Amino acid sequence: MTHVVVVGGGVAGLGAALRLRRASEAGHDVAFTLIEKDERLGGKLWTDRWSDENGGTYIADGGSDSFLTDKQAVHRVARSLGILQDETGTNEETSKTFIVKDGRLIQMPDGIMMFAPTKLMPMVTTPLYSWPGKFRMALDLMLPRKERWAPGDTPQEHDESLEAFVVRRMGRECLDRLAEPLVGGVNGSDPTDMSLAATYPMLLEMEQKHRSLILGFLDQRKKVEEMRKKHPPKPGQPKRTFFSSFRPGLQYLTDRMADAAGREHIVTGVTAQKLEKAKDAWKVTLSSGEVHEADAVIVATEAWAAAPLAAAVDARIGELVASIPCSSSATVVMAFADADCPFDRHWHGILSPLVEHRPLTGVSLMSSKWPDRAPKGTVLLRGFLGGPRDQHVLERSDDALVELARTQLVELLGMPRSAQPLYARLFRWDRGMPQYTLGHLDRIDEIEAREAVISGFALAGNAYRGVGVPNALESGERAASKVLRDAGVDYADTASDDGSVR
Ligand SMILES: Cc1cc2nc3c(=O)[nH]c(=O)nc-3n(C[C@H](O)[C@H](O)[C@H](O)COP(=O)(O)OP(=O)(O)OC[C@H]3O[C@@H](n4cnc5c(N)ncnc54)[C@H](O)[C@@H]3O)c2cc1C
Repeated sequence: MTHVVVVGGGVAGLGAALRLRRASEAGHDVAFTLIEKDERLGGKLWTDRWSDENGGTYIADGGSDSFLTDKQAVHRVARSLGILQDETGTNEETSKTFIVKDGRLIQMPDGIMMFAPTKLMPMVTTPLYSWPGKFRMALDLMLPRKERWAPGDTPQEHDESLEAFVVRRMGRECLDRLAEPLVGGVNGSDPTDMSLAATYPMLLEMEQKHRSLILGFLDQRKKVEEMRKKHPPKPGQPKRTFFSSFRPGLQYLTDRMADAAGREHIVTGVTAQKLEKAKDAWKVTLSSGEVHEADAVIVATEAWAAAPLAAAVDARIGELVASIPCSSSATVVMAFADADCPFDRHWHGILSPLVEHRPLTGVSLMSSKWPDRAPKGTVLLRGFLGGPRDQHVLERSDDALVELARTQLVELLGMPRSAQPLYARLFRWDRGMPQYTLGHLDRIDEIEAREAVISGFALAGNAYRGVGVPNALESGERAASKVLRDAGVDYADTASDDGSVR
């Protein structure tokens, strides 16, 4: 029997547990115990369901609310769990995004791909940029490449920060008004040291291939349009949207994963405090004083929590993992009565660039973005606070943060000052987002090279090769495969080779 202890019950830890369970179902002598510090499973996937006195239900995702539809891992696991039909795309009729400029909401110009314009008229007419800012962006069409890579070179060898890259190609205004809130914000990263090679290597490659980013994105837009023409949605089939979720909220995924992995093998409310490699076995000491012996250990926690555990196995791995910075944030989900929301509801999000100096860095209109998130006659909103450049705001009390979010929403959306939420919930994410800073990939290569030669040990989670939900899920599956291989268990999860989409 190969017994594996999995530390951490987020989507990565549960991905590992599920794969181990599948190996056992396939006839291999494998068992696992998953240890989760919180009482709740799911980690950054946290859906709060609240019913009002009229029987209406609010579905509030406090952490991640979506995943990229193009990435296969979630669809694949959903199919294996029989919940693929519960996936949902975003509501495309209401998909506008606004950017805050001088306190006003400006609609994101049509044709923007990431932060690059691909349509002339919307760019000419938008008040989002000044005329000098627009001319500076257009200069990208003429500017040479920074350098020509040698054949076989990779983005990793030519890493550059988001700030350096965008300012060099398209100017400071493009960074400040769009790239920072859109690209940096989504990654919870500070553009000054956010590694492009680790997050968006395609941008570096695009400069090599097309020289100009605008030309590169125009080419990409053409290809997407051709693909859409070639493969129109079948009658009755919903249009594929960029982001997806599950109708009951995103934690539905981790809940069903836990059910399928087997909740009898999961212990919650207990912290793994110490990891040791004894002669033939691993020992995991828990906060309860219990010691679990295992043939293998998977550490699927945040980087700051993984570092001390990993350091006991390999001091250098511990050092490298500890060097991955993590930023804290908070989200506030609030519902208001229709009457208090006299604004247009045809949008999904508002981004507030750092240069606006607002504590609320973003807003999602959850009740327009997703179906059935709030009872009729109410509007569900979610605001983001904190992030790498404003950690101080999080020192305020919970009540103060909820009130701060409320007053910001009132101001931005023109709601009555007296508007009080029907439902409000604060979610704190202490050091919840890893920062992929310059040189991240070199550090991860070294971690993986050292981990590869430590039999029965693997790391998983969003700190290493991708911060999105599908990446974290896959990292857990890979970790499970690694420790199974180390134990000589010959198990190939055939479902993972299924490349089909929903
Ligand atoms: C506010 C927010 C919004 C996001 N939005 C999106 C989005 O829209 N789309 C997207 O793709 N991604 C999004 N992300 C990122 C995504 O949610 C995460 O990358 C992913 O869920 C991380 O999963 P994980 O399993 O690696 O880590 P986690 O979910 O952090 O799980 C780690 C678990 O380990 C537990 N743990 C820690 N230490 C110990 C210990 N010593 N013993 C036992 N247990 C321990 C923790 O309690 C936690 O449950 C968002 C993240 C945040 C914070």
